[in-house]
Amino acid sequence: MTLHIPFENSYVRLPDRLYARQMPTPVRAPQLIAYNQPLGATLGITGTEDEAQLAQVFAGNVLPDGAEPLAQLYAGHQFGNWNPQLGDGRAVLLGETKGYDIQLKGSGPTPFSRRGDGRAWLGPVLREYIMSEAMHALGVPTTRALAAVTTGEEVIRERPLPGAVLTRVASSHLRVGTFQVLAARQDKEGLAALLEFAIARHYPEATSAAEFLKAVIRSQGKLIAHWMALGFIHGVMNTDNATISGETIDFGPCAFMDTFHPGQVFSSIDRNGRYAYGNQPDIAVWNIAQLATALLPLEDNSDAAVAEFTDLVNAMPDVIRSAWRARFGAKLGLSEAHEQDEALIIEFLTILSEQKADFTNGFRSLSRTPESSEMLIPHKDFASWHTKWQARLTEGEDAVAQHMAAANPARIPRNHQVEAMIAAAVAGDFEPFHQLAGALADPYQEDPEYRSYCLPPRPEERVTQTF
Ligand code: AMP
Ligand code: MG
Ligand code: MG
Repeated sequence: MTLHIPFENSYVRLPDRLYARQMPTPVRAPQLIAYNQPLGATLGITGTEDEAQLAQVFAGNVLPDGAEPLAQLYAGHQFGNWNPQLGDGRAVLLGETKGYDIQLKGSGPTPFSRRGDGRAWLGPVLREYIMSEAMHALGVPTTRALAAVTTGEEVIRERPLPGAVLTRVASSHLRVGTFQVLAARQDKEGLAALLEFAIARHYPEATSAAEFLKAVIRSQGKLIAHWMALGFIHGVMNTDNATISGETIDFGPCAFMDTFHPGQVFSSIDRNGRYAYGNQPDIAVWNIAQLATALLPLEDNSDAAVAEFTDLVNAMPDVIRSAWRARFGAKLGLSEAHEQDEALIIEFLTILSEQKADFTNGFRSLSRTPESSEMLIPHKDFASWHTKWQARLTEGEDAVAQHMAAANPARIPRNHQVEAMIAAAVAGDFEPFHQLAGALADPYQEDPEYRSYCLPPRPEERVTQTF
């Protein structure tokens, strides 16, 4: 059977200055690493039995019927600095199906490649596959991974490394930077077309630019609170990596924290800690301010629109804060968290950070008896905090335990495990990749088989930088 994707493409009908038609560049000897069957099924993809054919298609060597490959144009603020033209430098959108984009990443150069080679090496491809699928399993809105293949070609980085292609699925690849590029070019007509597209795709209830902005603020605000609740540090919150849909995108130097510290940074390129864990809410607001600015030309920069958009942006910290409170409240077993509960949450986070405790396991270890939180007992304030916390709980033991088990994962993709998995794959062993994917498929469920995946790194395993 031939692989079939029921494409219904719409991006290609937007003004053609928003993209460049671009075929993927074939590779020498593609081999399938993984194909995500359940995701493929929800996308309506059929005829996926033949692994060699999957490898050909998801390497970009064979174009499925109905694909109309293109590279998208966007711009963005990178670490706060304006870059007037970015765009898909190593990716092509094959097309859309069931409301989702199917994009090959690492598929060769495009008109937006600048000095890049258009390729990806195996490490980041496996990293994105694991991280994005783990995010999804953890319940966080995110781009997904449909397939990963090796190319049989080398990619030159600090040294020659095996090349790979990731197939990314997203409800769209619209970014704050997609609006920014048109605003910067004073292309009001293009902006209007893009806004109409974005509203139809993501926020059909919105009837104006302001309502659209408000909807993006809600979904981005909730997203950031969700990241915070899982100890996730995105690492490159540039405006080209901020989606309009509110999905997590770009799993470059991202990381889940082991030891909790609000100032934690992993990204090797984030020298000033702009995207540190605790800065993420502020940066999300900064990014939305750029979206608001990019939408203003649609309202002819009128004073009324400036005032309205400013109010919306200024309200975003509260959106994040209440989502944050609800998420962390749930982690403490509260079905509803009130403003007064913030002190309880912050006190616990302070204990975690002063005790240099593992973020994930610190929450997961909490129970009626303080003894279960072995790592926290030595902290001078833990016993009194525990008493206060127990007094605050209004629901029965089972209900509380249920809330907590659903909000505190047993397993997250830990940096040392991801790095070890990549090292094994580069040496030709893909078993740790499949193991890790399996361990993270149901992360809230205790599973003795996956016990080792719950363990924080030993000192010699600790990863301090991501790339
Ligand atoms: P990122 O930092 O991953 O968000 O990427 C920023 C920009 O660099 C995007 O426009 C990418 O398409 C581009 N880019 C990253 N790596 C490459 C590469 N190997 N070849 C071409 N463009 C790239
Ligand atoms: Mg990016
Ligand atoms: Mg990236």
